[in-house]
Amino acid sequence: MLSPQYQGQTGELTVPGDELDGLDLESKLSTGIDIPAARAAVADLLLALGRDISDPHLADTPRRVAKAFEELLTARPADWTTFPNDEGYSDLVLVKSIPFHSLCQHHLLPFRGTAHIGYLPGDRLIGLSKLARGLELFARDLQVQERLTVQVADWLMETLDARGAGVVLEAEHLCMSLRGVEVSGTMTTTAAFRGELRTPSPLQERFFSK
Ligand code: ZN
Repeated sequence: MLSPQYQGQTGELTVPGDELDGLDLESKLSTGIDIPAARAAVADLLLALGRDISDPHLADTPRRVAKAFEELLTARPADWTTFPNDEGYSDLVLVKSIPFHSLCQHHLLPFRGTAHIGYLPGDRLIGLSKLARGLELFARDLQVQERLTVQVADWLMETLDARGAGVVLEAEHLCMSLRGVEVSGTMTTTAAFRGELRTPSPLQERFFSK
């Protein structure tokens, strides 16, 4: 999962982000999951893995797994109301260490970690908790960390018409720690900066400071 352009915590990695398709919020909430089909597929997978699905511990597993994936792939609805920036607040609004999890699109295994999300307001503000909910909107999907980072930054810019936005994600990928190279505890950092935050600056550094 480590992208070749990954550059650690230097803040130099600005992922190009032209894909705004993630901004179709309605489609994000209705993921079109066919639960009966998913249950049947999980049962087939267990059989293909040579498991005895009549084992009492496995009997209800297809239903549980289908429900688990439904939950992991469905964002909860939220109110995306924005507010006028009447006092003209102009400094960085930065929420740090937001826990998040998502599912790796390549292995269907989780990756989880913390997010630092901020923006430079223009005429609109948004509730602080909505920064975490906005992340969830895109994280409850089959994802790659790079795309998730870009989608949240573009969503902020689009929703708030912000002067700048930044998203830094630090995550451990179970597909790396439990299989393959089996390097547990490694963290992958990705960053996307937009607008006035695009170039390295003291403001941008605040996303990386502990
Ligand atoms: Zn993976």
